[in-house]
Amino acid sequence: MKKILWWGLSLCVGIGFQTTSFAQNNLAMGSSNQPLKYRIAFIDPRFQLTREKFIEVSQQAAEIWQKETGKTYFIYDSQAQLSINLIYDDHQMLKDEQQNNLDALLQKQEAWRIKNEEIVLNKQEVAQLSSDLNKRKISLKAEFEQYQQNVTRFNQGEHRYYRADELKEQQNQLQQKSGNLQNESNSLNYKIQLLNSKIRELNEEQSDLSSLKTQFKLEQKTSIHPFHKGLFSQNQIQIYGYASLNDLRLTLAHEFGHALGLKHTTDPKSLMYPRLKEQDIHNFKLTDSDLELLGSIYSLIKENH
Ligand SMILES: [Zn+2]
Repeated sequence: MKKILWWGLSLCVGIGFQTTSFAQNNLAMGSSNQPLKYRIAFIDPRFQLTREKFIEVSQQAAEIWQKETGKTYFIYDSQAQLSINLIYDDHQMLKDEQQNNLDALLQKQEAWRIKNEEIVLNKQEVAQLSSDLNKRKISLKAEFEQYQQNVTRFNQGEHRYYRADELKEQQNQLQQKSGNLQNESNSLNYKIQLLNSKIRELNEEQSDLSSLKTQFKLEQKTSIHPFHKGLFSQNQIQIYGYASLNDLRLTLAHEFGHALGLKHTTDPKSLMYPRLKEQDIHNFKLTDSDLELLGSIYSLIKENH
């Protein structure tokens, strides 16, 4: 199942940069060509994220801007004006809960898959045993028929071919084989019964799983939509939640982009797309559309100065 992660959406658009003068006010680089300094002001303890870790992630977010441009855009400075706050709200609690539900669901699904694989193997084994057993039954039946013919001939007086003690011995052997075959057949039947009850169990679990999935999808539909993860306004970046450190890094990098004065792109792979969607969150590189946006702000600043 794909995780659904969100950037801040409407708030970014609404409070972001509507006028170029606003962008200029915030653009330390624009006027002095100095990197924009930021500090970490507040981390809600419920995130269980240390300041050191948060600083590290913010520096990685800053590196995203540096890597493709060769320019330092952001520097951590505990005295900076621009502050970053990690704020816990109900949405985060809901999000955590949903993440836990999703993890549990994925675990159950994996357990089901393993069980299903075992059952498929079991089925193959039972089918093989059953086919072997049938072959032996057929061959035993042929031996019985041969024995019956021998007895008939003996009874008709053909004593020169068959002796009574030999026939008796044959009879014992056939009874022995027949008994063995019966035992194996019983144990096979027992295996089949076990297998059938496992299959019933598996089917029940599958229907439980699919109703859990439906429930989960419903919860996502009704609750995640209004949740905005990040917000930039004048001298503050607020982060309201994240699903992983990769997610946090990219959310920060996105809000950093707003702090530079960038608006949104329409390219789903880009950092400045309003949502985390098709971006490579593990190893993100600025896309052409991000760089174009950056370039347009720069030429704009140059024209004005
Ligand atoms: Zn945004």
